[in-house]
Amino acid sequence: MQDIKQAIKQLILYAKSHALIDDSHMEISKQKLIHLYQVDDFALMSNEKTQDFFKILEVLVHQGFQLGLYAPDTIDERDAFEAKLMDLVMPSPDEVKQQFHEKYKVKPELATNYLFQLSCDVNYIKTKRLKENIHWIYSGKYGNLEMTINLAKPEKDPKSIALELSNPVIQDINIPKCVLCKENEQNYHNARMNLRIVPIDLGDELWHFQYSPYQYYQEHAIILHDDHRPMCIWHKTFEYLLDFVDQFPSYFIGSNADLPIVGGSILNHDHFQAGRHTFPIEYAEVIKSYQKGSVTIEHIKWPLSTLKLTSTSRNELSLLASQFLEGWKQYENIDLDIVPYSKHIPHQTITPIVRKKAQIYQLYLVLRNNRTNEHYPDGIFHPHTDVHHIKKENIGLIEAMGLAILPGRLKKELDLIEDVLNGKKQVEDSLVKHQAWIQFLKSEQIKTYEQLLHQVGIKFERVLEDSGVFKLDQFGISAMDQWIRQIIETSLS
Ligand SMILES: [Zn+2]
Repeated sequence: MQDIKQAIKQLILYAKSHALIDDSHMEISKQKLIHLYQVDDFALMSNEKTQDFFKILEVLVHQGFQLGLYAPDTIDERDAFEAKLMDLVMPSPDEVKQQFHEKYKVKPELATNYLFQLSCDVNYIKTKRLKENIHWIYSGKYGNLEMTINLAKPEKDPKSIALELSNPVIQDINIPKCVLCKENEQNYHNARMNLRIVPIDLGDELWHFQYSPYQYYQEHAIILHDDHRPMCIWHKTFEYLLDFVDQFPSYFIGSNADLPIVGGSILNHDHFQAGRHTFPIEYAEVIKSYQKGSVTIEHIKWPLSTLKLTSTSRNELSLLASQFLEGWKQYENIDLDIVPYSKHIPHQTITPIVRKKAQIYQLYLVLRNNRTNEHYPDGIFHPHTDVHHIKKENIGLIEAMGLAILPGRLKKELDLIEDVLNGKKQVEDSLVKHQAWIQFLKSEQIKTYEQLLHQVGIKFERVLEDSGVFKLDQFGISAMDQWIRQIIETSLS
């Protein structure tokens, strides 16, 4: 019991020193924690030195399990209980919304800095787990690609994502319909008691801004619609995205596509991803450039077929982007396997990305097609089976911009492969899927871990190339050129 009291005291001191609570809230937080753990009252001494935050949490979470305050003892349940503890020593949702709003009026960055720091301090963003991620740069045909092995993200099968989309909505009002619903804020489900979100207005509609617990890149934020409504890429998407960069000019914003296989892992709740990071796609070279009114259109040298539209005029930009979107949805080129519909089921959509630099808007349109056939049952423009041992998930927005999020299992597998290449180990069961690759690596005399990481980069480059609809060969470039010209010539000005 002494342990618990000491840890409670330490947690309150931590919260006070990180401005999560002020003096007047210390006693209230203590009473809530005392009630939760059923311990006797004690005096708070504020001149004690604070201990390591993660150690304090570990003690309190472990004791919570011993006292039967949660079960079973899994990572998910531990996270949910830990979030509940932090909720007792942090500002309420209303206070956070008010603080964000006040700071925004002074400067947007003050507001985002505030919410980001708060999300880290309450361990909603798992900073300790993120430090274990592996990160490297691969220099290849398209410049630098960013590579990460993320140890927090489970690998999702595209087929189960498609299934989720068709599942009926849960009726219990206390359980959010999905992990992106606004009802997750301060909710025990999905370990979100310590989540705080703030309302923003995009396209005259209510959306909410929050940070991602996984932080795939710097200040990784999620913007979710007020309603649980499916992802949809339409002309208004450009309005939402442009409104966002007008309000938060230091952040980029992008959307996953709205179709299975080429979309993200969540299709049933309309949302965007934003953040401070600059992605490899933004450094891509230009293959050919065109002009329509104030808008410069560039076909960039990128493995996924991408147009970059630049203009100071929001209206001209979004009008032309809508025409490219509508044109792409109908585009057909049998020779290149680009077929827009199977009966009435659409295959074509776009992954859009927007950034504002000074008064200039940049809009990237990544062309996508999710058709499958007998030869490619997982998708014609999806990573093909010979690279699945590295990446078989959907190539969503983040990968499309050149940042690989590779599954956590790879960390251990690469260590084992390095041992195999150096003759220290035989190929074991977990490496069977890498068998052909290991043979190739041996023939290339790959020995060191660095060389191995470079080879993973080559695979990721292939993953992106597989996802490109117009390949960057003579036929692909020329077909894309014809299509761009046709849209520009027929577009309204
Ligand atoms: Zn939802």
